[in-house]
Amino acid sequence: MMMIEGGILVLFGLLFGSFLNVLILRIPKEESIVFPGSHCTSCNNKLKWWHNIPLISWIILGGKCHFCKEKISIQYPLIELSTAILFGVVYYKLENIPYGLIAGLVFALLLGLSLIDFRYKAVPDSLNLGALTLAIFASPTILTNLTNALIFAGGFALLRFYVSFAIKKEALGEADIMIAATIGAMVGLKLGVFAIFLSAVIALPVFIIIKEKDYEVPFIPFLAFALFLVFIFEDFFKAFIFNVYGI
Ligand SMILES: [Zn+2]
Repeated sequence: MMMIEGGILVLFGLLFGSFLNVLILRIPKEESIVFPGSHCTSCNNKLKWWHNIPLISWIILGGKCHFCKEKISIQYPLIELSTAILFGVVYYKLENIPYGLIAGLVFALLLGLSLIDFRYKAVPDSLNLGALTLAIFASPTILTNLTNALIFAGGFALLRFYVSFAIKKEALGEADIMIAATIGAMVGLKLGVFAIFLSAVIALPVFIIIKEKDYEVPFIPFLAFALFLVFIFEDFFKAFIFNVYGI
């Protein structure tokens, strides 16, 4: 049963990954995500159904447009594959279809958000608020999830005032506050604080390396990745926090 349910979610992940590609491509350009239908971004020809099968089409077409032979970015199949794996891993952790589906969607949206942040330095509210709203319903304790989301949003908003005051410039964006709320809803207070700490630890070496190139590194991908690690390896991190801090 577990294999079948997990398989269903992996397939769903492949399809959603395909949709995520559309979101990543169109949201930053403020294009409709429904119309026009899928088309080649260089020759504008409408894609046929068999050009649109996640993962498989890219392989059949040899990574090239059927019409104009322009290269199709490997980002498409990679996102589809990553989203499928993501749903599989989340299901493996939760062993539950409705919650596996909702939590999978939260992380898939965060993946999309991270890529858009990396590429465009923009964090669309549509994806951010979508992830937050789903996160509140990602486990049966909805009221607790909502409370934790509110505490984290409030905490981050206050932190923003303090940090901005200290460094005399606007620190932490509004988008970070929404992500913090998602973290609170997904893993609760203790693990949430730990996830934020972990994101800083992972980001630090990257910030040090890239700093010299005068490139401002987006922070949201690190928050999202740390949340995913803490969510999946919850027991390990709980034991770690308990053993080290006794809480
Ligand atoms: Zn083409």
